[in-house]
Amino acid sequence: MLFSHVPENLWRDYNWQIKNRIKTLDELQRYLKLIPEEVEGIKKTEGVYPMAITPYYLSLIDPEDINDPIRLQAIPRISEVDEEIQSRGEPDPLKEDGSIPGLTHRYPDRVLVSVTSFCAVYCRHCMRKRIFAQGERARTKDEIDRMLSYIREHEEIRDVLISGGEPLSLSNEKIEYILRGLRSIDHIEIIRFGTRLPVLAPQRFFDEELLDILDRYSPIWVNTHFNHPREVTELSEEAVDKLLRRGIPVNNQTVLLKGVNDDPETMLELFRKLLKIKVKPQYLFHCDPIKGAVHFRTTLDKGIEIMRYLRGRISGMGIPTYALDLPGGKGKVPILPNYIIDRKGDKFLFESFTGESVEYTIDEPI
Ligand SMILES: *Cc1c(COP(=O)(O)O)cnc(C)c1O
Repeated sequence: MLFSHVPENLWRDYNWQIKNRIKTLDELQRYLKLIPEEVEGIKKTEGVYPMAITPYYLSLIDPEDINDPIRLQAIPRISEVDEEIQSRGEPDPLKEDGSIPGLTHRYPDRVLVSVTSFCAVYCRHCMRKRIFAQGERARTKDEIDRMLSYIREHEEIRDVLISGGEPLSLSNEKIEYILRGLRSIDHIEIIRFGTRLPVLAPQRFFDEELLDILDRYSPIWVNTHFNHPREVTELSEEAVDKLLRRGIPVNNQTVLLKGVNDDPETMLELFRKLLKIKVKPQYLFHCDPIKGAVHFRTTLDKGIEIMRYLRGRISGMGIPTYALDLPGGKGKVPILPNYIIDRKGDKFLFESFTGESVEYTIDEPI
C-alpha cells in the first residue's frame, strides 16, 4: 500500500483526500516509478488536461503494472496531446454547450446541468475534457439561478440530472441551495446526481450531514461510474451502502475503454461485483470521439461481443444497456447483439444464449 503511513481517521476524511490530491510530476514520482510516456504526458498536458488524483484512488494502482487499469484512467500520457490523437474527435461532439451556460436540454422531459468544473480526479477518458482547461470553478449563484429559472419555465421537464465536473464536490450548503430550488418547482419529479465520488473519494458519503440533505429532497437517484472490478473496494461499498440506507438507488454507467475494461471477463467480473454491492449496471457507453481521448475508443464489435458474452453468465439485472451517443447531440441509441437470425412472416429463428438456433412461430394475437 502506497499510503500505509496515513492514519485511519485522515484516510477516511474526504477533505483530507481532496487537500492531498497529487497534482504535480514531482509529487507523483514520490509514489510511483513513472514511464517516459507518463513523465512527458504530465508535462505536456499541463494547463490543457491537468492531473489530479486522490491518495485513495492512487492507492488502488498496482505500482508494478504499467498498464494497470486505474493508472490508465488517472495518469496522463503523451498520447493525449499526440498530433494524431489531437487531430481526431471534437471537444464537444455531443453538442452539450448551449445558450444557458452549463445546461443541456436534449430530451423533452430531462435536463442535464453542469454545476462545477471541479473533479476529485481528472479521468483521462473524460467526455468533458474540454472543461478541464477552465480550471476548478463552481458555478456562481447567478448561474445556478439562471438554470433554475429555465427549468421553472419549462414545464415539460420532470427529471434533472446534476453533473459537472463533480457535483457532490460542492459544499453541503450549495448542494442544498440547488435541491431546495429544484424542489420548489412543481413539475420536477426526480433529481439525479452524476457523481464519480463513490469510486474516486468514497469518503464524501461518510458525511451524515450530506446524507441528511439528500434524504430530505427525495426522490434522489445517484448515477455513478465504476469502470473496473478493482474499483469496487470496501470503502466504495461502504459509500454505496450509506446511500442505499437513505433510500437513494445507485445505478452505474461504465464507459468501454481500450486497455482498461475492453474484455468480456473483466466486464463480467465488474458487473458481478456491482450486483454484490447492490449497484445496478445501467449503461455501458461506447466511448465518444472526444478530442484528447480517442485512444480509449474500441470498435463497436468489441462492445457487442461483450454484451453477447454477458447473457447467460449473469442475471439480467447485471446486464446494462450498451449505448452510444449520436454525433451532433442527436441522443443515445441502444445497441444489442442481434438475436433474431431470420424471420419469415410469423416464423422466427432466434439465437439462444448458448448459441443454439431455435425456431419459434409467434401467432397473431387473438
Ligand atoms: C444521457 C443524457 C441524459 C439522461 O439520459 P438517461 O437515458 O435518462 O439516463 C439527459 N440529457 C442529456 C443531454 C444526456 O446526454
